[in-house]
Amino acid sequence: MKRRLFLRSVGATGLGLGVTSTRAMTYISDSHGMQAGSPDVPDGMQQDSAEKILLKDYRPKSLYKVPVTEIVKAKFPIIDMHSHAYAKTSEEITQWLRNMDEVGVEKTIILTGATGKEFDDICRKYSQHPKRFELWCGFDYTSHDQSDFGYRAVRELERCHQAGARGVGELHDKGKGLGSDKVDPFGMHPDDARMDGLFERCGQLGMPVNIHVADPIWMYEKMDNTNDGLMNAFKWRLDNQPNIVGHSGMIDILERTVGKHPATIFIACHFANLDYDLARLGQVLERHRNLYADIAARYAETAPIPRFASNFYAKYKDRLLYGTDMGFEKPMYHITFRILETLDEHFYETEQFDYHWSLNGFGLPDEVLQKVYRTNAEKLLLSRTTQPA
Ligand SMILES: [Zn+2]
Repeated sequence: MKRRLFLRSVGATGLGLGVTSTRAMTYISDSHGMQAGSPDVPDGMQQDSAEKILLKDYRPKSLYKVPVTEIVKAKFPIIDMHSHAYAKTSEEITQWLRNMDEVGVEKTIILTGATGKEFDDICRKYSQHPKRFELWCGFDYTSHDQSDFGYRAVRELERCHQAGARGVGELHDKGKGLGSDKVDPFGMHPDDARMDGLFERCGQLGMPVNIHVADPIWMYEKMDNTNDGLMNAFKWRLDNQPNIVGHSGMIDILERTVGKHPATIFIACHFANLDYDLARLGQVLERHRNLYADIAARYAETAPIPRFASNFYAKYKDRLLYGTDMGFEKPMYHITFRILETLDEHFYETEQFDYHWSLNGFGLPDEVLQKVYRTNAEKLLLSRTTQPA
């Protein structure tokens, strides 16, 4: 595998800790703390008054002279199990493919969440590249309040399957119930009896289901100076919505759903939003053999706890799937490689993730990387066989 190397900053000697020089470049950071009066300081922050610096403007820079590793191509080929139809034109699709080639992504699963004409239109757009993009559909909730909902929704699922959908997702239930931007069947959670026929049919059709339950824990916590995710928390807050199922209740709903449909494969995306409590996710995975978790868009949330997280990866290496969910720009892929592959410490990625937390690499061993990057996904995708209805 050919790897492109580059060095953002020359003149420093790499220590090569945890990485080999054939795949990545390590150098010593010359980062410095933010200096009042320096050109780096945004307008309005030139004062040295602690009372005037707002959290939203806080952009710390690591002050440590420690190794900084740039990885522009993943160590092993990747199947990205969590993306969306970000590219809207054929030019953008071509650019995405070029980026995938350069960073080492063989195939991307596009979770359209769509049905009907919307799904068909997306299919048409990506149909030139069946080996590189795979499309999954959504569920049609339009008739959720009618007695024939199950029948109609299953018919549409079968139609999408015929049209090329190889899985279902991303379904969402952040506490209010399942729904889409068009239909909001308030309170219909995945363990609702009305959903049984759909999930059963997914199993029969060999369609895995990617499902998003709950949301990051800091959205549920008090919006005060103890909230660890305060930088983003107000924007996404859920603490002020009393009628939703809470975080823990949503994990219970996930477990009941997965337990009810043992012949259907479920992928809880974003670590089931248990990135803050990986031990509980481990217990859930152990109880349900038909459940996987994707790691999409939870890099910044796990990188503050590198030792605990890498132990979790090692223990559940057969159940975790690489995903991105963050567009298709190359720097986005690079930062995921830096977190998974290197042992870099205390770095910030406020541009990409918008947190005030400092991040650390996990330095995952090759065996774990290979499984998470590709092998688990490949096995899951190959295991899909349509059972007779
Ligand atoms: Zn997503």
